[in-house]
Amino acid sequence: MVKFYDSLQRKKVEIEPSNHRYIKMYTCGPTVYYYPHIGNWRAYLFMDNIRRVLRYCGYQIEGVMNITDVGHLTSDADEGDDKMLVASEREHKTPWEIAKYYTDVFMRDAKRLNIDLPEHVVPATSVMSEIVEFVKGLIARGYAYETSKGIYFEISKFEDYGQLSGMNIKEKLAGARIEVDDEKHSPYDFVLWVKAPKEHIMQWDSPWGRGYPGWHIECSVIGDKYFGDTIDIHTGGVDHKTVHHENEIAQSNALYGKQVVKHWMHLEFLQIDNGKMGKSLGNTYTLDDLEEQGFEPEVYRYFYFMAHYSKQQNFNRDAMEGAKNSLKNLKSSVSEHKKGTASVDTTEYERQFEEAVADDLNMPKALAVVLRMLKEPKSADVYKTFLKFNEVLGFDLDNKDIPKEIENLARDRWQAKKDRNFELADKLRKEILDKGYEIKDSKDGYDINKI
Ligand code: AMP
Ligand code: ZN
Repeated sequence: MVKFYDSLQRKKVEIEPSNHRYIKMYTCGPTVYYYPHIGNWRAYLFMDNIRRVLRYCGYQIEGVMNITDVGHLTSDADEGDDKMLVASEREHKTPWEIAKYYTDVFMRDAKRLNIDLPEHVVPATSVMSEIVEFVKGLIARGYAYETSKGIYFEISKFEDYGQLSGMNIKEKLAGARIEVDDEKHSPYDFVLWVKAPKEHIMQWDSPWGRGYPGWHIECSVIGDKYFGDTIDIHTGGVDHKTVHHENEIAQSNALYGKQVVKHWMHLEFLQIDNGKMGKSLGNTYTLDDLEEQGFEPEVYRYFYFMAHYSKQQNFNRDAMEGAKNSLKNLKSSVSEHKKGTASVDTTEYERQFEEAVADDLNMPKALAVVLRMLKEPKSADVYKTFLKFNEVLGFDLDNKDIPKEIENLARDRWQAKKDRNFELADKLRKEILDKGYEIKDSKDGYDINKI
């Protein structure tokens, strides 16, 4: 049984997928206007952590993540300029060149961190017609209206607005400041579609003239495109709770007339030297910056496991030095166990590890179990169990040259076997064989070898 803290219900709840053991998960993706920093990477390690733990606990998972390449303004609400256009002016490139460049950077860095990316990674600009249809649906259902500037979501029509952050929208509306845009019915109504001035670079056709989407609508639309009216888990950083996710909930639930997302999970922020991270403070480190300081991306992965996701984590040099040493010791211990001859019963470690990860991703506790197990006499049993744990930890043991594609196929095959779907398991084994690798099963795991 897996229990996660659900930010909407404000308690730990058992994860019960809508469809047997198959989980549909949505993650708010990066805005591709600059280099992702290590705070952003904490958010994607969190996503990776959930995916790997669910799989470890026997679930199948299908993930979707958007790439924001249009519409995210310099404020998370409707003020400021589009971040893509700001970057485009800064770097003298088109917004499309900016998006391509920083999407590639994101993908490259995700690989360096061994992040298990979602099955579908979807740029907002690739779903324009779906966005238009969604907005038409909201107008038809009476939740949206048109002004000379664009189409707005009318939040007073959506009874439950504010459920995630616990705000009382009626009180807020009563005390609201006078809105500068007097065409809006309320200052908290947010934009779904912006009517673009002629000179605006990024614009598309719509029934309301040329324009571009607001930021929040892309997530509702991309979630809808792949999952329809039910999403089991939706993740993101805590900063998105009050505006972006409230707006996503309003849009999706209004269209379907039901609660679309079953469970919300939020990650707390990374702090630097006990303070905020900020460009003006010069401390928005990237993975390249960490490497320059002598820390491989994998050290940051280890560092992520040292704190619970629901607590702020403090980044500083000492903590990273600690992570670096611990990772080095862990790896050398694992390789000694590989050659070990002692016999060790690892059942209790396995039980404790699973209990920790299934209890709202308690990675510090899970890591402690791993380290305790590694103190056992050198034993291949320990090594084998570590390989299992490593499905969650995701460290590169560089002791085998097995491509990720083969590892994924092998993992799917193992799951198929556990599900007693032997036809699929055999098909996958053959596919792996055709690609030049062989799988050897044991009682509680498998080994992959190059033929
Ligand atoms: P953005 O690219 O700005 O849309 O942000 C991508 C993700 O990074 C979002 O889920 C944010 O919540 C998350 N994020 C931004 N800053 C931090 C931080 N300091 N710590 C953890 N997550 C962050
Ligand atoms: Zn989102």
